Amino acid sequence: MSKRRMVTCCNCGEKFDYEEEGRYWQKAYWCEECSRELEFECCKCANYMDTEDEAGLPIQHCFLVVFNAQEVGPRQGIYEITSWPYFVTPTIGRGNIYPESVKRLMSLPFPAPSHYAYPTGHLCEDCQTKLGLDRTKTGAYKQQKGIAK
Ligand SMILES: [Zn+2]
Ligand SMILES: [Zn+2]
Repeated sequence: MSKRRMVTCCNCGEKFDYEEEGRYWQKAYWCEECSRELEFECCKCANYMDTEDEAGLPIQHCFLVVFNAQEVGPRQGIYEITSWPYFVTPTIGRGNIYPESVKRLMSLPFPAPSHYAYPTGHLCEDCQTKLGLDRTKTGAYKQQKGIAK
């Protein structure tokens, strides 16, 4: 029997057994539930990817894919996120994208996956690369790098 190793989740304060669940990320422990917040589903290939790289720089919020333009404002396509915040989420009703915080790069090169229920999505690093997108050149990445140092 392995020795139990109780640690405290940096996000919610819950104590959990690190040998059994959760994850160690960015020099902190994350319980099973909170560690889900560290990942996102790619809207193209449906793989799960960390929202940030090991340096704490964004992977998810560098590019924005708009499927349903009616829901969010900007027309369908792939956008560079040039600055944060780029999205306002009201407590009631639908959210909106700030047009000045995104830059249109291309029209949508793939159809919205049938399982995908959201009006917008994000790309994993693989899919970014396959589309010729470089997250380190985006405004969002540079902005975070400036803050993170
Ligand atoms: Zn937690
Ligand atoms: Zn992908």
